This record gives sequence, structure tokens and C-alpha cells, in this order.
Amino acid sequence: MHDEKYDVVIVGGGPSGLYSSFSCGVRQLKIKLLEARATLGGRIPLYQEQLIWDVAGSQGKLGSEIANNLMSAAQHFPAEITFNQSVTKISKTGRDFVITTQDDTTYAAKTVILAASSGIIHPRKLKIEDNDGFDNLHYIATEIIKFEDYIDKTVMIYGNPESLTEYAILLQKIAKTVILVTKKSHFNDISVFLDNVIIYTNTDIEVLKRNKLVVSEVVLSNGSRLEVSEILVHLGTKYETKAISFENFDVTMLDQNGHSFIQNNPDTSTNVKGLFVVGSLGAYEGKAYNLAACLSEATKAATQAAIYLDDTVVAELRVSTHNEIFKPKSQVMRANYFN
Ligand SMILES: Cc1cc2nc3c(=O)[nH]c(=O)nc-3n(C[C@H](O)[C@H](O)[C@H](O)COP(=O)(O)OP(=O)(O)OC[C@H]3O[C@@H](n4cnc5c(N)ncnc54)[C@H](O)[C@@H]3O)c2cc1C
Repeated sequence: MHDEKYDVVIVGGGPSGLYSSFSCGVRQLKIKLLEARATLGGRIPLYQEQLIWDVAGSQGKLGSEIANNLMSAAQHFPAEITFNQSVTKISKTGRDFVITTQDDTTYAAKTVILAASSGIIHPRKLKIEDNDGFDNLHYIATEIIKFEDYIDKTVMIYGNPESLTEYAILLQKIAKTVILVTKKSHFNDISVFLDNVIIYTNTDIEVLKRNKLVVSEVVLSNGSRLEVSEILVHLGTKYETKAISFENFDVTMLDQNGHSFIQNNPDTSTNVKGLFVVGSLGAYEGKAYNLAACLSEATKAATQAAIYLDDTVVAELRVSTHNEIFKPKSQVMRANYFN
């Protein structure tokens, strides 16, 4: 058992968990965020190259930009984020919770915000030896990338022509060269590509040559040997659906369309005091399953957790302009805003 007791343990580092972390930080709560994977962003990597129109104030932004902003926000206030911690069990003794993960690590918490959605998405990996653990090889179904990091780089993208096309249209304007590699025989429309896009069809990746932590050369099945700066791989996903078990208490569940949800209230509280549910894992009448709902519920969960911890805390969260916590940072940023 970790010695420390957290005000709140957040389970899941998707949009609802990330914004819960920020919102709990605003409330100055002591936070631990546990994420099952080695990466944050939840489901957003699945559509990070798409433009998003249904998040107020962020219309027309890329999914990746929204996710990168959420990841920064989650760490705006000190938040301990621990990766590769898949929560398997939560037990309750008195008011407190103990959260157990797949390797039997335990964390003590006064409250829990469950932001774990209904399962863990893993990327399908290259079926070759030594296919992971490189700094410049990214499985983009689960890893948020920053497109601006690819300025003047030689970027190889491997997968099916549809997703390669969308990534290439974005990258071709900033990258030096974009190399598309697919096992499929053709692209629907190559007129969308600029001259710096090179296409290999009916081709596979055969070997990744390693130089310490980077892929220094890619060997293709057609015999080509290519030096690239970054490799983006999109071979789809597999789902791991292991439910979290609850010990010493029962959580009210709800089955809808063959899926199991935790029944919560619009303010994110559940039938268990101190346990709050945000995002895709929860269900109540009229609930929306989108990013806007995740963000709104994250704020509510932080407020409910703070009130549960200290009933003198008022429910209303003061807006940024009247919140002392942002004042020093805002002053510095305002002075340099147009630099
Ligand atoms: C293809 C696609 C396109 C979409 N397009 C849009 C759109 O255009 N606009 C919009 O508003 N919404 C869109 N959505 C919906 C939006 O992505 C979801 O509403 C949102 O991701 C839900 O966030 P979440 O944090 O609740 O769950 P998730 O994003 O699923 O994140 C859950 C996180 O919890 C982790 N986790 C799971 N189990 C455990 C465990 N036991 N222990 C620790 N960690 C765990 C997971 O690894 C994951 O990181 C789309 C969804 C998909 C799949």
C-alpha cells in the first residue's frame, strides 16, 4: 500500500479523467490519476486527425489539439499521473477507499472519480520482431501526437489507405517528405497529395533497424531501405473489457443496448458516497456521450468530491476571472500575450 492517502484517485486518463484532474486541481485537492495504458487521451487518438465541431470554443480544432490541451490542463496543478496501472478492484472501509491495480499495487483515497469508460483500447502492433519501445515509432490509435512536431521531418505512415490519406493531407504541408506504406493495392484519390508524398502500395514493413531508442532505418518488403525521422502506425485496435470489481459495497449498474454502465446522477454522484462517475462509464436519463458532456461532468465531479471532503465548501466554482488560483499565472501570461 502506498503510504499517502489522496483526496481523490481518478481512474482513467481519457478526456473525462484529464479534465477531472484539472478541476480537482482548481479545488486544490491532492490527486492521483491512474491510467491503464502508457498513454493519455482515452479514445481521442482514434480521431485525432479529424476536425471537431461539437466542443464549444474549440470548433474546427483537431482532435489532437484538444487532447494535447487536455493533457496540459491535467498537469496544470500538481497531479501525480501513474501509467500502466489498470484498476481491477475498489474496496471501501468506513469512508475511505482502497484501489488495487493489476500488479497488486494499492492506493488509498478519500474519494474516487471513475473515468474508466467501458474498457481499454490497445493498438494492433506490427507483426515483426522488435516492434515497440522506440521514441520515433508511434501507434496512433492510442498515442496522441503533436502535428507541429513534424515540421521538416521525413514521416512514414503505415496502415490502410483511408487513414493514411487523412494524415498525409495534414502533414504534407509541414513535413519535408511523407512516405505512405500500405499492404493494400491502391488509394482512392492520389490527386489530393502534393509532390512531397511518396506512395508504396502492396508493400509491408519487414524490419526496423534499431539505433538505441530510435528506428534508424526501415526495410520494406519490396527491398527499399529508408531513413525516416518518425513512423506513424495505424493498424486498428483491440479491446480489453475487464470490469472493475467492488468489494464491501455494491454499485448500482444499468444495462443499455448490451453494455453495462454505472448508474449515476447528473451531478456524477452514485449510490456509494464518495464515488463519482464521469464520462462514458456512467448513465442517467438524458446523458450525452460526447466530449462536451465529459468536460462538464468532470467539473461537477470535482465539486461533489470537494463538498464530500469538506461540507463547508460551496458548490459554485468561481469563474477564472474571479479565482485567485489563476491570478499570478494570468498576470505573467497577459504581459506576454502578444509576444
Ligand atoms: C471514433 C470516435 C469518434 C468520436 N468523435 C467525437 C466527436 O467528434 N465529438 C465528441 O464530442 N465526441 C466524440 N467521440 C466520443 C468521445 O471520444 C467520448 O465521449 C470520450 O472519449 C469519452 O471519454 P472518457 O474519458 O469517458 O472515456 P475514454 O476516452 O474511453 O477514456 C477512458 C480511459 O480510461 C482508461 N481505463 C479504462 N479502464 C481502466 C482501468 N480499469 N484502470 C485504469 N484506466 C482505465 C482507458 O485506457 C482510457 O484512457 C468519439 C468517439 C469515438 C470512439
